[in-house]
Amino acid sequence: MSRSITYITGSQLLALRRQPNIAIVDVRDEERTYDGHISSSLHFPSDTFSDNLPNLLLQIKGKDTLVFHCALSQVRGPTCARKLVNYLEESKEDAGIKNIMVLERGFNGWEASGRPVCRCTNVPCKEHGTA
Ligand SMILES: [Zn+2]
Repeated sequence: MSRSITYITGSQLLALRRQPNIAIVDVRDEERTYDGHISSSLHFPSDTFSDNLPNLLLQIKGKDTLVFHCALSQVRGPTCARKLVNYLEESKEDAGIKNIMVLERGFNGWEASGRPVCRCTNVPCKEHGTA
């Protein structure tokens, strides 16, 4: 059985993002530092993503839905989501992940639609609702 990657819209994510089973994974590189981020998102830059896959799985323990995004979710977001799918298939690791998704239009679309952007400098982001 092969996992498929599905897409989620910004408005769907806005409604779902506080569910405890969801992890948002930002794979932008240095832009995160300048442009803010979606609150409570994890940061796994695309350039080191493959090396950090085991660490990602540790950090998302207990979550069954992962939502990937980059700036536009056209290249890096889907590529990293695909890397996770391949990794899970090769390692035969289930990890309890049911849904691997990509945020349509990425962070830029999220921000352009006026959705809340967190500008904290915490690593990882600890904001869960104020922004
Ligand atoms: Zn934050």
